[in-house]
Amino acid sequence: MIYLDHAATTPMAEQVAASMQPYYAKEYANASTIYEFGEKSREAVRQARAIIAYSLHAQPDEIYFTASGSESDNWALKGTAEAYRDKGRHIITTQIEHHAVLNTCKYLEQLGYEVTYLPVDEQGFVQLQKLEEAIRPDTILISVMFANNEIGTMEPIAQIGRIAHKHNILFHTDAVQAYAQIPINVNFYHIDLLSASGHKFYGPKGTGFLYIRNGVKTASFIHGGGQEQGKRAGTENVPGIVGIGEAARIAMQTMTERLYRETRLRDYMIREIQRRIPHAWLNGDRYARLPNNINFSFEGIEGETLLLLLDAKDICASAASACSTGSSEPSHVLTAIGRDPELAYGTLRMTLGEATTMEDVMTAVDAVEENVTLLREIAHM
Ligand SMILES: *Cc1c(COP(=O)(O)O)cnc(C)c1O
Repeated sequence: MIYLDHAATTPMAEQVAASMQPYYAKEYANASTIYEFGEKSREAVRQARAIIAYSLHAQPDEIYFTASGSESDNWALKGTAEAYRDKGRHIITTQIEHHAVLNTCKYLEQLGYEVTYLPVDEQGFVQLQKLEEAIRPDTILISVMFANNEIGTMEPIAQIGRIAHKHNILFHTDAVQAYAQIPINVNFYHIDLLSASGHKFYGPKGTGFLYIRNGVKTASFIHGGGQEQGKRAGTENVPGIVGIGEAARIAMQTMTERLYRETRLRDYMIREIQRRIPHAWLNGDRYARLPNNINFSFEGIEGETLLLLLDAKDICASAASACSTGSSEPSHVLTAIGRDPELAYGTLRMTLGEATTMEDVMTAVDAVEENVTLLREIAHM
């Protein structure tokens, strides 16, 4: 099998699974107890928090463990909306966010908040001029994703953060796709809140974290016990926390090598598709894009059919975003970058991972070329 859907999820690293194993049965103590038996669990949670904080140039008490990237996004938006509602009720985000952000914004609108959904240009970039124009005296939060999960475009995060802080507005970024792929320093980028998810970087599913800069107010997300500084109650998921910590540790060690390797494979794939397949449109920026993302719209074909044909050759890819599979609407991201619906339907996303080889990439390009040609012949194009 050739797995080219790492933006949907990644396989958990064996080392990560091994690190979690003791905490399922043997070291089962509640990390919040004070007796000696709980020390191992407590220490494991403490270490995971320290590793993740270090990876972002943050402090350990600025890292809050959650159960998913979606939860982190929900908390960042709802938590700040509630805590700052006396300051204002206006939030700025973009039209190309993940549904974890978009649908939370829709929910906040029902509660009386106002949300501006910034358009993006043809590459998927937020325009700073439009952002400045959208800012109002009652704007409390700007939420812009670090990198887009469908088209891979990386946003001008440092500039956005600087604009937010110049206007005394909080800045949240959904970094679920970017974290562990590229280095992130929350101070350099002026980030106040940052969401990430374990299963997107070879960690366990059902784990995530939210970075909240010290001094930023957020309402508690889960009320109950005193875990996560009393803001996110519930007995700590020690194996999961150990796993996401170990995945972060490995990611930091291997990042530079992965970044170069995947960028090289990505660029090869983009060049070959452009050279061999006519009427293929690259989605997202050519350069400011995630090192593992390849996304094309092919004229005259249907993406879902292409996916099935690739599946028959044991190649896993994605037609748009896994989250919108099953809906017949063209992806909101492709619509936002101005792809016409017809072309948007012919979209294929392939996302590479640390185990992807040059051979995999060559096989996949052959299969894409062959099947796009076949589908076009069937359609007499
Ligand atoms: C996958 C993803 C999420 C959701 O993360 P989960 O852990 O699956 O809930 C949020 N935002 C982006 C950009 C993603 O790619």
